[in-house]
Amino acid sequence: MKGCNLCPRHCNIDRAVHQGICRARDYIRIASVVIHKGEEPPLVQGAGSGAIFFSGCPMRCEYCQNKEISHNNFGIPVETDQLAHYMIKLQRLGCSNINLVSPTHYTPWIIESLLQAREMGLDLPIIVNSSGYELVSTMQKWYEHAHIYLIDLKYGDNWAGRALSKVSDYWDIARRIISHVWEEVGPLEVDKQGRAIKGLIIRHLLLPDMLSNPFAVLEFIADISLNIPISIMSQYNPKYYTGDIENMKRPISKHEYQVVLDKATSLGFKTIYTQEIDSAGEYFPDFHASRPFGDYINLLIT
Ligand code: SF4
Repeated sequence: MKGCNLCPRHCNIDRAVHQGICRARDYIRIASVVIHKGEEPPLVQGAGSGAIFFSGCPMRCEYCQNKEISHNNFGIPVETDQLAHYMIKLQRLGCSNINLVSPTHYTPWIIESLLQAREMGLDLPIIVNSSGYELVSTMQKWYEHAHIYLIDLKYGDNWAGRALSKVSDYWDIARRIISHVWEEVGPLEVDKQGRAIKGLIIRHLLLPDMLSNPFAVLEFIADISLNIPISIMSQYNPKYYTGDIENMKRPISKHEYQVVLDKATSLGFKTIYTQEIDSAGEYFPDFHASRPFGDYINLLIT
């Protein structure tokens, strides 16, 4: 990785020598490997989703609830074959997929791990769980290897990306990537057990005072296709916010959440995943409250 340009930050640095904005170097670093039951229902069939959290992140969201991982680069280095073994372990424990959480800055290394894991017998669907701040050229690397694209559309304008995530062009970049992924993978497909096997899901975390511009987000997605499942998240927690925008220092209200749900319903989306409004503050809130807030096992610890 002599000149890293894996994401729209275009640091163009030698990662053997320097850290980029994402804090990554030229080896994989992971923060946790867990069986996660708090994702959208088609992603948590069986034992749950086999989530692998990667250290660092190209975005600098001031309200990130995983700052220790994303900003402070918490985690341990792993070799590609070690990561492949974790994937196999998640499969043996009954997970319905391998969920790569913020994988962008390690894309080539993770793909190498996936190839090794396939050799070892991995046959689960792979999820790319992304912030939406992606380059088409990097996303294209995944298409041959990953099946489900769980992509955030965080903001409906560039102002919010600048004010809250230190990126100037989030809205432009994320719209382009979502259109591209949609063209490539299409709507979500599930098998007879209700397990997601392929396709696109878009997440939107609602921010207080509608600062995420949710109507623009929903209208943009609706214009692409009402068959795209959308996940409207209520879990914003002000305790992680470190900026100085006054309205970000409170949770969202039930009324705000309902207004956004009503908008999504009136636009005609076929599938809308919701969260309990009082889930704010939970680390892994439950979707639809259809399952108890699940136990999860950190395989790096147990
Ligand atoms: S992946 Fe990291 S080092 Fe590479 S361009 Fe993005 S922020 Fe910079």
